[in-house]
Amino acid sequence: MSATAEALSPAAEAVRGAIADGRIGDRLWLYSNYHCNLTCAYCLTESAPRSPRRLLDPEEMIAAADEAVKLGFGRLGVTGGEPFLIKELPELIAELSRRLPVILNTNATLFTDKLLARVAPLAELPVTFQISLDSADPEANDELRGPRNFAKVVDAIPKLVELGIDLRVATTGDDRSPEEMERLCALHLELGVPEDHHLVRPIVNRGRALPGQMGIHMTSRELQPELTLSAEGAFWSPFAPTVFEGRSDTDLLVSRQRLPLEVPAAAMLSIVDSDPEGPDLSLGIRCG
Ligand code: SF4
Repeated sequence: MSATAEALSPAAEAVRGAIADGRIGDRLWLYSNYHCNLTCAYCLTESAPRSPRRLLDPEEMIAAADEAVKLGFGRLGVTGGEPFLIKELPELIAELSRRLPVILNTNATLFTDKLLARVAPLAELPVTFQISLDSADPEANDELRGPRNFAKVVDAIPKLVELGIDLRVATTGDDRSPEEMERLCALHLELGVPEDHHLVRPIVNRGRALPGQMGIHMTSRELQPELTLSAEGAFWSPFAPTVFEGRSDTDLLVSRQRLPLEVPAAAMLSIVDSDPEGPDLSLGIRCG
């Protein structure tokens, strides 16, 4: 038995086992913030430039990553809001990636030359940027994501590719026609992002998508259990810490307590283990 295993409590050992056999997802998600420079039509967190920031302290994010290593998590995800509104984000991502590989969700609209220079070192680290792009048609894309979004994203992607940053393109909305999808795939290939780095996922009917009845409704049974920390607590999935009419949804809250990480992880495991056997996770929705 290793020194690390000896130091773990029985609850932490149980969490390690659940991650190892896939009952709990091996990625820990961190909501760095909830505010955003955009105001997308389907935003789960009703993010906008003036929405409450709900920041997760960077030091707490690092502490959570350290504990995630001990509990057997294999990966980290950082999302928001727009994480690049956090001024120390590039250095924070570098620190996190020294613990575990990181996927970072970003709208890719804030990459000035100065910011590009600061993210350049991340090309040498186990970091992937997941960039939102919804259509090859600028008007259709911008209708969902805001004015000039398309132009900014297609400007940023080749610059990040040139830096050697590992990129994925994420398309939200799985109702595109085959022709639309073909054009979108041709575009991301032209921008330097290969086909196996393109993720398409449905709009989830929460947050700003709710009043317009956009997307699909889902419960915890349709979402993979991926422990997710935000300023509001620990949640079931990165699709769970949503906001509606300015209030945080708590239907998928696992625990108000975030650290030590074994507390919300053990709470999640008790929910997983109390779930009756049967066909679940049927939609297989993933954030990244
Ligand atoms: S979907 Fe993402 S980019 Fe759009 S407003 Fe929400 S947090 Fe910002």
